[in-house]
Amino acid sequence: MKKIKLNPKAVLGQIHVYTGAGKGKTTAGLGLAIRAAGSGKKVAIVYFDKGGLLYGERNILPKLKPHIRFWVTGLIRFVPGKPFRFGVTTADKKEALRGLGIVSSLFKKKYDLVICDELATAAGLKMIPVAKVLRLMKTKPNSVELVLTGRNCPKKILAAADLVTEMKLIKHYFYKGIPARQGIEF
Ligand code: ATP
Ligand code: MG
Repeated sequence: MKKIKLNPKAVLGQIHVYTGAGKGKTTAGLGLAIRAAGSGKKVAIVYFDKGGLLYGERNILPKLKPHIRFWVTGLIRFVPGKPFRFGVTTADKKEALRGLGIVSSLFKKKYDLVICDELATAAGLKMIPVAKVLRLMKTKPNSVELVLTGRNCPKKILAAADLVTEMKLIKHYFYKGIPARQGIEF
């Protein structure tokens, strides 16, 4: 096995991707946000593609200000009891670009951890060009730890990341008829 030389001066600045078809990507990002905030880090979360305030965390995050701040972009995908809205429209693309603009502006504001939730999904669905996401990753200040989440992450983004974790779908209760539940799935 290759011997790894650890860098004792390592600071923030790594790029994580949480992808895959299993559950746990967005909540892993949120868990990291809480850990970082609890350690005195300044955290920003930018939500892509899933708009609205339906998701439980978006109702508690305002109470974590100024430790964690968040921005919601994207149109509504899901209303309980109704089918998920699939497909990509011009309006979805416009919202994704707006989200990317927010992330760029946050790079100038001394955040320690920036989480781009569902940005990998947006790139995988061609809602946003992969080249723009790669540029964002390149222009990230060295001191910012960046997290991208979402299924079907394009290979070039995976290649440019420092950490890639795949949530592998082994079982999901959805397939035995359990619908998305408030507080667990959203
Ligand atoms: P979470 O937000 O719970 O961490 P996630 O970010 O990994 O999940 P997404 O791809 O954003 O998952 O999907 C949102 C929700 O859809 C998840 O809470 C999840 O339980 C549900 N889901 C994930 N995979 C499947 C699947 N294969 N079939 C049906 N529903 C799924
Ligand atoms: Mg998610």
